[in-house]
Amino acid sequence: MRVLKFGGTSVRDAEWMARSLNIAQEQISEGIVLVSSAMAKTTNGLQDIACRAEQTGFDEARRAIEELEAHHLATAEALLEGEPLDRCRAGLEELFSELVSVVKGLSLLKERSPRSNDLILSFGERLSTTILAETARARGIETKLVDAREFMKTDDAFTHASLIEETTYRLVREKVRPRRGRLIVTQGFIASTETGITTTLGRNQSDFTAIVLGAALDADEVQIWTDVDGIMTCDPRLVPEAATLPSISYREAAELAYFGAKVIHPQAIQPAVTAGIPICVKNTGRPQSAGTRIVSDIPSEGPKAIAFKEGITVVNVTSARMLHAYGFLKTIFEIFELYKTPVDLVATSEVSVSMTIDEVKHLDAISGRLGALGSVGVARDLSIICLVGQGLWKNSRIISRVFSTLEEVPIRLVTLGSSDTNLSVVVPREKTAEAVRSLHSEFFERGGG
Ligand code: ASP
Ligand code: MG
Repeated sequence: MRVLKFGGTSVRDAEWMARSLNIAQEQISEGIVLVSSAMAKTTNGLQDIACRAEQTGFDEARRAIEELEAHHLATAEALLEGEPLDRCRAGLEELFSELVSVVKGLSLLKERSPRSNDLILSFGERLSTTILAETARARGIETKLVDAREFMKTDDAFTHASLIEETTYRLVREKVRPRRGRLIVTQGFIASTETGITTTLGRNQSDFTAIVLGAALDADEVQIWTDVDGIMTCDPRLVPEAATLPSISYREAAELAYFGAKVIHPQAIQPAVTAGIPICVKNTGRPQSAGTRIVSDIPSEGPKAIAFKEGITVVNVTSARMLHAYGFLKTIFEIFELYKTPVDLVATSEVSVSMTIDEVKHLDAISGRLGALGSVGVARDLSIICLVGQGLWKNSRIISRVFSTLEEVPIRLVTLGSSDTNLSVVVPREKTAEAVRSLHSEFFERGGG
């Protein structure tokens, strides 16, 4: 069986819902579990409704609810007619009347707790899946709609709840029973505590639901259907020659995730890694294109992609006291921890440490405290450029090609060796485009690599 996850843009209106269902229907003989996000913009809309209700009362929220309702009804009307449409309408109306009661309650109390916020956001996925399931049934597909809150069990850290794995896996096997020729429809993102209170897994975490289902059910694969062709060798806005990668390893995908590449969050991938289940990223708008497979082992080593991140600051601490001392790094990192500022790249010598950060809100305070340990230097307006690919380490030719390609670019910091999957250089921001383009051309545009 396969798990297919459709993101918000893949179910954004009637036409796209129909496309998504076509994709599921074509594979129905395998047995499909379809996980859907809310229709695009719905979760943000619900968040806005919750905030308005808290701040200004129900009347302000009412209009937004009505708009959302009209949009969902119009989608259902475009997909369905006759009795199935009546059933779908009834389902949507029931959900909207529940939403109205919750929002009214919240506006009376003028108190939006994380718990009530989660309940309000949960309507997005419940609405989209109501339409999808009814439409699949109307097509004659044997369909079952299962509420994800029946099996996705979490702690009560509302808005970013953590999965209780054992209970969830057991419940998935009990309640979600895929079989050949059958479609199970369920929601991404939403879950519940063991006592049944609605929670959410965190924004954009629908992928995680799909991957958990895939792992618990030992799926042949998990397909993530989205609005890009897959994972690319580079951001095509900067490098038009960028190409889709046919496959990439879990580790490479995790390295790319930091750079905001449109890949799945590394934490969300974990259950698939453990269970050894391949994940395919595919474009709903171009289902014929192959997409990218994320797998545990890839046949080829070497560079796979170039990622970059602008707006980076390097903080450097130099102190002779560091020589032969222990505990020095710990003291430095504790200062960053105190200000909840993540450090990304680190390079050290015996008497100095350089670190990159991209959150500079507390930079002055951090520099002040670091000043007590040694002399502090701060360089702003930099970028990290990162070559991703397993086995970079093993091939010194690759490393020398990187540096000869960047001959003209001043390099502020280099990291290589913490994983053999990532070679990162820090360069001035104004050199980013040039450096990324020349690296891309060196490694990916001349049959290189
Ligand atoms: N609908 C949720 C969001 O927009 C979850 C998701 O789409 O992954 O954050
Ligand atoms: Mg999304």
